[in-house]
Amino acid sequence: MLKHLFCAVMLLAAGINHAAECSSGEPAPGVALIVIDGFRPDKFEAADTPFLDRLAGEGAFTDRARSVNPTITRVNFVTMSTGTHVDRHGVVGGAYRDADFAERRTDGPTYREAQDMVPVPTLFEILEDHGFRTGMFAMKGYELVGARGASVQVGGRDLYPDEIWSYRYTLSVEGSAEEGLRRRLKMNDLLVDALGEVLAGETLDFFIINLGATDYVGHIHGPESDAYIRVLEATDSHASRIAQLLSENDPGRSWRFIIASDHGFTQTNEEQVVLPVEVDPHNIPELADAGIEHKLYERGGRAAEVYLKDRDTHGKAFEILSALAWVDRIYTEHDIGGRAGTLSELKVLYPGRHGDFYIMTDPSYALNFANPGQHGSNDESDVRIPLIIHAPGRVPSNADIDNASNADLAPTIAGLLGVEDDRIRAMDGRALIDLK
Ligand SMILES: [Zn+2]
Repeated sequence: MLKHLFCAVMLLAAGINHAAECSSGEPAPGVALIVIDGFRPDKFEAADTPFLDRLAGEGAFTDRARSVNPTITRVNFVTMSTGTHVDRHGVVGGAYRDADFAERRTDGPTYREAQDMVPVPTLFEILEDHGFRTGMFAMKGYELVGARGASVQVGGRDLYPDEIWSYRYTLSVEGSAEEGLRRRLKMNDLLVDALGEVLAGETLDFFIINLGATDYVGHIHGPESDAYIRVLEATDSHASRIAQLLSENDPGRSWRFIIASDHGFTQTNEEQVVLPVEVDPHNIPELADAGIEHKLYERGGRAAEVYLKDRDTHGKAFEILSALAWVDRIYTEHDIGGRAGTLSELKVLYPGRHGDFYIMTDPSYALNFANPGQHGSNDESDVRIPLIIHAPGRVPSNADIDNASNADLAPTIAGLLGVEDDRIRAMDGRALIDLK
């Protein structure tokens, strides 16, 4: 097996000339995309994170990169690995209603079952075609939906012992919130261990790893909590350990680091839970009382899609939804309430997979779950995320990457690896390299 992809080999495979950055015999730089799940830029500022601060100082940094709609993990990971929005990749969430109003899911026991539902090429497939070896290290498991083609696919569900996995959304374990937090931090540790085991046996040229403890802590403690700052500080050490593992396992090779996030976080009010899961998370009583058959699927707790069985009921349904205190705004394609065409603005329209209404909730309520932290909406708190591109020589530290989207990451990574391909050019995003 190929232990190193040397520059010469890469240039042949990629068919392009980046000779300036390759001196003979040196392996080409790898690219690591480290995702910090649910990463608020203002809390990055507040936390003590020496490793990430160094990368941000030496590389290009913005505190205003953007998550795509809906601002949830699964959707944004598919966007990161396909460079497209939902209107092209089609993964709007975990569950949706198809054209016949039947429930369909974008998962399965291992999430790999859903990979074939993604109708666009993935970055993993493209890079593997160009001779690179790639990996996805998914904490939650469903980050794997967009990882079709990756040689190495690690899912958290297979990785974590039950005493960690089954408590990931539980505040206190054995009566102790401290113990709960310790177990959540351990999730990052074990995922980095899994990466280390892979790197000890083989060389990867590109991988994505989701350090997801921040998301669990953000939901359970809220993004305004001390616990959220603590998990960010711990995550800094986890990211630093990844860099250390890379240099230990492959001392001759340099690495480029992209530190990104899937979405931000909003502090919500766990005292006012709408449609609690214990009762029925999918049915809005006010619509049911009016005889309107429907299903609601939440997206991160701050957004939801409402599917109507009989589309002739959309006028009445819109009226009822508009009057609900927890509904902040409604997007729809239907010509109603001056909202015609607003759903396509969100780039979530995908045939047979989008709801009739897309709702953003008021943060003084919590949807389905009694959590003080939620996301999913297109409010700035959910959309805005930090982004660091540490690629000395390719991306200057003063490069303007403000408003970079998660759709830009795949073209950027391809560019850093010197890959040119029509499938990359067909993506929605643009490469954030060679910027002035
Ligand atoms: Zn989340």
